[in-house]
Amino acid sequence: FQNVSKIYNLGEQEVLALNDVSFEIEAGKVTVILGPSGSGKSTTLNLLGGMDRASRGIVEINDTNLTELSDHQLSEYRRKVVGFVFQFYNLIPNLTALENIGIAANLTKNDANSGKYLEAVDLTSRKNNFPSQLSGGEMQRVAIARALAKKPKLLLCDEPTGALDSQTGRKIIQLLKDASNQKTSVVLVTHNAAIAQIADRVVHLHDGKIAKIVDNAAPMDPRKVAW
Ligand code: ATP
Ligand code: MG
Repeated sequence: FQNVSKIYNLGEQEVLALNDVSFEIEAGKVTVILGPSGSGKSTTLNLLGGMDRASRGIVEINDTNLTELSDHQLSEYRRKVVGFVFQFYNLIPNLTALENIGIAANLTKNDANSGKYLEAVDLTSRKNNFPSQLSGGEMQRVAIARALAKKPKLLLCDEPTGALDSQTGRKIIQLLKDASNQKTSVVLVTHNAAIAQIADRVVHLHDGKIAKIVDNAAPMDPRKVAW
């Protein structure tokens, strides 16, 4: 992110959601974006994931300058490079838990691999449930399994533990941390400072600006996080 600003137009009103934000995420690491409600976290993630475009500044992933891509190229980038766990899940209502996972990973609907990811989030017993037949936390876990199944280069998670109790949340954070390796970089949005302790780098956002960037030499073991 290089001097990135994002302005939303609401009729007459303009909202400056990001104001000259610059930071880097490192390949294979976990970066947490931390900040209070309305500070611009989801906006930042949406720009990283190519879901939206910056008003000013440059968003660059490796050598690809997202701001210069056509709409078609940007959708290819989303499809090929990015796994996204939305703040409000975005599951496909008429597909089961298992099918929702398969779809993102281009697996056939009932591929055994979908089951593997469902198992990783402890939901094997709910595989045939439709989203309307799942609890909020279960939907959230299906969304996480779906993003993992895609084995994305960039895994972007917006409040992935928002609907989870602390024990389940710790497991999910462990899973996301395990997913970060040479091939996958993880960016995790949260307002929870305890969760941020597991990150290699924490980008603190406040009112659309960077308050500080902190690198953790010794990130905390997710199993030890108390929240
Ligand atoms: P939360 O923790 O509540 O999810 P956030 O840090 O993710 O908050 P953003 O969703 O990035 O915050 O929003 C940042 C600011 O931009 C807020 O003031 C919000 O009202 C505004 N905003 C977000 N999306 C839009 C939009 N589509 N149109 C207009 N304003 C928007
Ligand atoms: Mg948000």
